[in-house]
Amino acid sequence: MNLARFQSLLVCVVHVFPFIVLFGFMWNLPVLFPVRIDELKCYYVEHPRSSHVENISRVFCDGHYQSPVNLSRNKAKIRSSSPFKLNNYDTCPFAIHMENNGHTVMLKPRQPKMPTLEGGGLKGEYSLVQVHWHWGSDSSRGSEHIIDGRSYPLEMHLVHMATRYENFTDALQSTDHSALAVLAFVYEASSKDNESYECFICSLSQLVDCGKNKTETREDSNCSFPMTNLLNLREFAEISTEFNKAYPEFYRYEGSLTTDTCNEVVSWTVVTKPIPISENQLNIFRKLQNESGSPISDNFRPVQNLGDRILRRYSANNDSRWILSCKRADRRDIA
Ligand SMILES: [Zn+2]
Repeated sequence: MNLARFQSLLVCVVHVFPFIVLFGFMWNLPVLFPVRIDELKCYYVEHPRSSHVENISRVFCDGHYQSPVNLSRNKAKIRSSSPFKLNNYDTCPFAIHMENNGHTVMLKPRQPKMPTLEGGGLKGEYSLVQVHWHWGSDSSRGSEHIIDGRSYPLEMHLVHMATRYENFTDALQSTDHSALAVLAFVYEASSKDNESYECFICSLSQLVDCGKNKTETREDSNCSFPMTNLLNLREFAEISTEFNKAYPEFYRYEGSLTTDTCNEVVSWTVVTKPIPISENQLNIFRKLQNESGSPISDNFRPVQNLGDRILRRYSANNDSRWILSCKRADRRDIA
């Protein structure tokens, strides 16, 4: 090799090699630094009905905008909407807080920008506050919402707060029927484990015996997941596109929290397509213990009367021309 060729090779190595190292490092970044689920917590809250909350809850829980409800195709008005837009749902949280509070398991991601939801007929932008679940002691029941007469073994609630509110308390105490937006998914039992849920179930299994250790923080650095795993979306190319494609149909109605104090401030979105989950994975939920060491089971509220509330069903398959004729047929429901 002559001197000129050696010099050009040297220049190439000096200039290109650092970039190869840098890109290689960035590519492997998620592997080198997995998200830490570093707060697995057990604690128990006093049952709300035993305190002064009872006076407040009586006011709301007997109201006319209560949840859950039976979502019936026959009663729903068919509507079209703009697609959902999900932001930061596919960002890896730097930490995930999970807790068994004796009534359910609650999950809160910690990331610089929280996941947000807009579009899909919602009024404005909503920021994710927490995620929790309701389940049954067997697969014949467990979901809060009943879809066309069918109960499901598990239901997930992704609770969002409208960003027009300063804080969660302000949103709860408002008289705004869309101060919160809960995105609800039901699950159906499948013959094999849902791989997207493996990491979550792994962490969940560590919160089972909380009855013995009321306040315990456990560390688990092996598990990691972005919120897209909970949505059962494994493609990260464009989260909003994937979401709208995977879940084209949902019900929408104005309702309430399904636990005390039943505040009537929730715009509910209940996705009709169930997420698959195996019986083995469902059994981890059913093993979770409350303060006295008994399994937390059937932690769902029975369906409430829909009354004269409007139930809407949105579908990606709707023909907009048909929708226009529908609006003329029933002017009460144009809003
Ligand atoms: Zn709930």
